[in-house]
Amino acid sequence: MRKPMVAGNWKMHKTVGESRILVTELVQGMKNFGQVDRVLCPPFTDLWAVRAIIEETDIGLGAQNMYWEESGAFTGEISPVMLSEVCKYVILGHSERRQYFGESDFTVNKKIKAALNHNLTPIICIGESLEENKTGKTAAVVNKQVRVGLDGLNPDDGAKLIIAYEPIWAIGTGFAATPENANEIHRDVVRASLDELFGEETAQSIRILYGGSVKPDNAGEFFTQTDIDGALVGGASLKADSFLAIIKATIG
Ligand code: PEP
Repeated sequence: MRKPMVAGNWKMHKTVGESRILVTELVQGMKNFGQVDRVLCPPFTDLWAVRAIIEETDIGLGAQNMYWEESGAFTGEISPVMLSEVCKYVILGHSERRQYFGESDFTVNKKIKAALNHNLTPIICIGESLEENKTGKTAAVVNKQVRVGLDGLNPDDGAKLIIAYEPIWAIGTGFAATPENANEIHRDVVRASLDELFGEETAQSIRILYGGSVKPDNAGEFFTQTDIDGALVGGASLKADSFLAIIKATIG
């Protein structure tokens, strides 16, 4: 009942010229996968160039961050009004934003509300650090990220969200969570927290992606799990062959 999604987070990679080359390769290969939502999240500077190439396709486009105000004296920031002209999705609260740019559950909450006000679909990243994982705090940390990050949203808002559970220790390290452990967190912590906030029907409808060292050779195992509804992919989304192989793996 939940349509799988594979989203590529390019992070701070790809010039406009490089993005055109990659997307041109992807468009061809992504053609026959309508049963999976496929989303590309390039840097801001590439958004219009990528959009021009995917415009006639069903490939989705997203940004990697956004400020919550609509306009004003916020040097260096990009607003939801600006993004809604060019793309449909926005990644919010990625652990690299939390780690290097001081984002918190409170600022992520403001961004989520601003995104929804402008009809952008937030892909909200949550996940625990290695230290939190090792000391048995994963459930508490993830539950708090969901509760505080989504505070004040009603079930109608909730139904528009996409969550990405990305244990920080698995991002870019080559050490992915096991599919079974990730599924347990998705089901028993993330979806259970969504259930508390929005009720069962909405919680069951929200897609929860796994992120953290997803590669062509491990993707298939994640997608067989009951509560893993797709993947947010960093490194392996930067090359057409590996990203396409991951998309292919979603349909088994
Ligand atoms: C990410 O940055 O969201 C991510 C999951 O990265 P990687 O796939 O490289 O671990």
